[in-house]
Amino acid sequence: MSEDWSKPRDIDLLADGRVSLEFTIAIADFPRLRPQLARAEGCATGRVRFGRERGVPVADVEISARAELTCQRCLAPLACPVESGGRVALVADAGEADRVPEGLETILAPDHRISVRDLVEEELLLALPIVPLHGAAECAARAPAPEPAATVGPAAEPRHRPFERLDELLKRRH
Ligand SMILES: [Zn+2]
Repeated sequence: MSEDWSKPRDIDLLADGRVSLEFTIAIADFPRLRPQLARAEGCATGRVRFGRERGVPVADVEISARAELTCQRCLAPLACPVESGGRVALVADAGEADRVPEGLETILAPDHRISVRDLVEEELLLALPIVPLHGAAECAARAPAPEPAATVGPAAEPRHRPFERLDELLKRRH
Protein backbone atom coordinates (compact mmCIF):
# COMPACT_ATOMS: atom_id res chain seq x y z
CA MET A 1 0.00 0.00 0.00
CA SER A 2 3.07 2.28 -0.12
CA GLU A 3 2.40 3.01 -3.80
CA ASP A 4 0.88 6.42 -4.54
CA TRP A 5 -1.94 5.52 -6.93
CA SER A 6 -3.05 9.14 -7.26
CA LYS A 7 0.25 10.12 -8.91
CA PRO A 8 -0.23 11.05 -12.60
CA ARG A 9 1.86 8.84 -14.89
CA ASP A 10 2.95 9.34 -18.48
CA ILE A 11 0.68 7.20 -20.68
CA ASP A 12 3.27 6.89 -23.48
CA LEU A 13 5.88 5.52 -21.07
CA LEU A 14 3.31 3.12 -19.61
CA ALA A 15 2.16 1.99 -23.06
CA ASP A 16 5.64 1.57 -24.57
CA GLY A 17 6.88 -0.21 -21.44
CA ARG A 18 3.81 -2.50 -21.53
CA VAL A 19 3.59 -1.79 -17.81
CA SER A 20 1.41 -4.08 -15.70
CA LEU A 21 0.37 -2.93 -12.22
CA GLU A 22 -1.57 -4.66 -9.47
CA PHE A 23 -3.42 -2.19 -7.32
CA THR A 24 -5.27 -2.05 -4.02
CA ILE A 25 -7.02 1.28 -3.53
CA ALA A 26 -9.28 2.16 -0.60
CA ILE A 27 -12.85 2.93 -1.73
CA ALA A 28 -12.63 6.09 0.39
CA ASP A 29 -9.79 7.36 -1.81
CA PHE A 30 -11.93 7.80 -4.95
CA PRO A 31 -12.98 11.47 -4.82
CA ARG A 32 -15.78 11.29 -7.43
CA LEU A 33 -17.23 8.03 -6.10
CA ARG A 34 -17.10 9.10 -2.47
CA PRO A 35 -20.21 11.36 -2.40
CA GLN A 36 -22.33 8.43 -3.60
CA LEU A 37 -21.19 6.06 -0.88
CA ALA A 38 -23.39 5.07 2.04
CA ARG A 39 -20.21 3.80 3.73
CA ALA A 40 -16.65 4.44 2.62
CA GLU A 41 -15.36 0.96 3.40
CA GLY A 42 -13.30 -1.64 1.64
CA CYS A 43 -10.93 -1.63 -1.28
CA ALA A 44 -10.87 -1.94 -5.04
CA THR A 45 -8.29 -4.46 -6.17
CA GLY A 46 -7.20 -5.54 -9.59
CA ARG A 47 -4.71 -5.11 -12.36
CA VAL A 48 -4.13 -2.64 -15.15
CA ARG A 49 -2.01 -3.51 -18.20
CA PHE A 50 -0.89 -0.83 -20.61
CA GLY A 51 -0.05 -1.20 -24.26
CA ARG A 52 -0.98 0.16 -27.67
CA GLU A 53 -3.69 -0.66 -30.17
CA ARG A 54 -3.13 0.86 -33.63
CA GLY A 55 -0.65 3.23 -32.04
CA VAL A 56 -3.06 4.55 -29.42
CA PRO A 57 -2.21 4.00 -25.74
CA VAL A 58 -4.70 1.57 -24.19
CA ALA A 59 -5.22 0.03 -20.78
CA ASP A 60 -6.77 -3.32 -19.93
CA VAL A 61 -8.40 -2.80 -16.55
CA GLU A 62 -9.63 -5.58 -14.25
CA ILE A 63 -11.40 -4.50 -11.07
CA SER A 64 -12.88 -6.35 -8.15
CA ALA A 65 -14.62 -4.12 -5.63
CA ARG A 66 -17.70 -3.68 -3.47
CA ALA A 67 -19.22 -0.25 -3.02
CA GLU A 68 -21.91 0.52 -0.45
CA LEU A 69 -24.26 2.90 -2.26
CA THR A 70 -27.59 4.32 -1.08
CA CYS A 71 -30.78 2.80 -2.43
CA GLN A 72 -32.69 5.61 -4.14
CA ARG A 73 -36.06 4.14 -3.13
CA CYS A 74 -35.66 3.33 0.59
CA LEU A 75 -32.39 5.20 1.28
CA ALA A 76 -30.89 2.20 3.05
CA PRO A 77 -27.36 1.08 2.16
CA LEU A 78 -27.07 -1.20 -0.84
CA ALA A 79 -23.98 -3.32 -1.47
CA CYS A 80 -22.96 -3.16 -5.12
CA PRO A 81 -20.28 -5.65 -6.10
CA VAL A 82 -18.17 -4.78 -9.12
CA GLU A 83 -16.37 -7.40 -11.18
CA SER A 84 -15.40 -5.47 -14.24
CA GLY A 85 -12.88 -5.78 -16.99
CA GLY A 86 -12.27 -4.10 -20.29
CA ARG A 87 -9.99 -2.17 -22.57
CA VAL A 88 -10.01 1.62 -22.69
CA ALA A 89 -8.14 4.05 -24.92
CA LEU A 90 -6.26 6.93 -23.33
CA VAL A 91 -6.21 10.24 -25.18
CA ALA A 92 -5.03 13.73 -24.27
CA ASP A 93 -7.81 15.60 -26.10
CA ALA A 94 -10.78 15.27 -28.45
CA GLY A 95 -8.50 15.56 -31.52
CA GLU A 96 -6.62 12.43 -30.51
CA ALA A 97 -9.92 10.66 -29.89
CA ASP A 98 -10.37 10.50 -33.68
CA ARG A 99 -7.60 7.90 -33.82
CA VAL A 100 -9.17 5.61 -31.24
CA PRO A 101 -10.06 2.18 -32.66
CA GLU A 102 -13.82 1.75 -32.97
CA GLY A 103 -15.60 0.20 -30.02
CA LEU A 104 -13.13 1.28 -27.38
CA GLU A 105 -14.24 3.47 -24.54
CA THR A 106 -12.15 6.61 -24.33
CA ILE A 107 -10.72 8.11 -21.18
CA LEU A 108 -9.15 11.53 -21.03
CA ALA A 109 -5.51 11.74 -19.92
CA PRO A 110 -4.72 15.47 -19.88
CA ASP A 111 -1.12 16.20 -20.94
CA HIS A 112 -0.79 12.46 -21.69
CA ARG A 113 -0.86 11.68 -18.00
CA ILE A 114 -3.28 9.76 -15.81
CA SER A 115 -3.17 8.20 -12.37
CA VAL A 116 -4.11 4.59 -11.79
CA ARG A 117 -6.66 5.87 -9.26
CA ASP A 118 -8.42 8.06 -11.83
CA LEU A 119 -8.41 5.26 -14.40
CA VAL A 120 -9.87 2.76 -11.94
CA GLU A 121 -12.42 5.29 -10.68
CA GLU A 122 -13.64 5.94 -14.22
CA GLU A 123 -14.21 2.21 -14.68
CA LEU A 124 -15.91 1.90 -11.29
CA LEU A 125 -18.31 4.76 -12.09
CA LEU A 126 -19.16 3.08 -15.39
CA ALA A 127 -19.76 -0.30 -13.78
CA LEU A 128 -21.89 0.94 -10.87
CA PRO A 129 -25.63 1.59 -11.35
CA ILE A 130 -26.51 5.26 -11.97
CA VAL A 131 -29.67 4.83 -9.86
CA PRO A 132 -28.93 2.12 -7.28
CA LEU A 133 -32.06 0.24 -6.12
CA HIS A 134 -32.82 -2.82 -4.04
CA GLY A 135 -35.31 -5.29 -5.40
CA ALA A 136 -38.84 -3.94 -4.67
CA ALA A 137 -39.60 -6.62 -2.06
CA GLU A 138 -36.34 -5.94 -0.29
CA CYS A 139 -37.07 -2.21 -0.04
CA ALA A 140 -40.57 -2.89 1.33
CA ALA A 141 -39.17 -5.23 3.97
CA ARG A 142 -36.97 -2.50 5.40
CA ALA A 143 -37.85 0.11 7.99
CA PRO A 144 -40.36 2.78 6.87
CA ALA A 145 -38.83 5.25 4.44
CA PRO A 146 -37.93 8.70 5.77
CA GLU A 147 -40.15 11.72 5.04
CA PRO A 148 -40.36 12.47 1.30
CA ALA A 149 -38.45 15.75 1.79
CA ALA A 150 -35.44 13.74 2.87
CA THR A 151 -35.40 11.79 -0.38
CA VAL A 152 -34.46 14.84 -2.46
CA GLY A 153 -30.77 15.44 -2.38
CA PRO A 154 -27.59 15.54 -4.41
CA ALA A 155 -27.33 11.74 -4.34
CA ALA A 156 -30.55 11.47 -6.35
CA GLU A 157 -29.30 13.68 -9.17
CA PRO A 158 -27.88 12.14 -12.31
CA ARG A 159 -24.15 11.78 -12.22
CA HIS A 160 -22.09 14.12 -14.34
CA ARG A 161 -19.49 12.32 -16.35
CA PRO A 162 -16.90 14.51 -18.06
CA PHE A 163 -16.70 12.10 -20.94
CA GLU A 164 -20.29 12.51 -21.95
CA ARG A 165 -19.25 15.75 -23.59
CA LEU A 166 -16.42 14.14 -25.51
CA ASP A 167 -18.73 11.34 -26.60
CA GLU A 168 -21.19 13.91 -27.93
CA LEU A 169 -18.38 15.63 -29.78
CA LEU A 170 -17.35 12.37 -31.38
CA LYS A 171 -20.88 11.46 -32.41
CA ARG A 172 -21.25 14.75 -34.21
CA ARG A 173 -18.12 14.15 -36.26
CA HIS A 174 -19.17 10.77 -37.60
ZN1 LIG B 1 -34.15 -0.03 -1.10
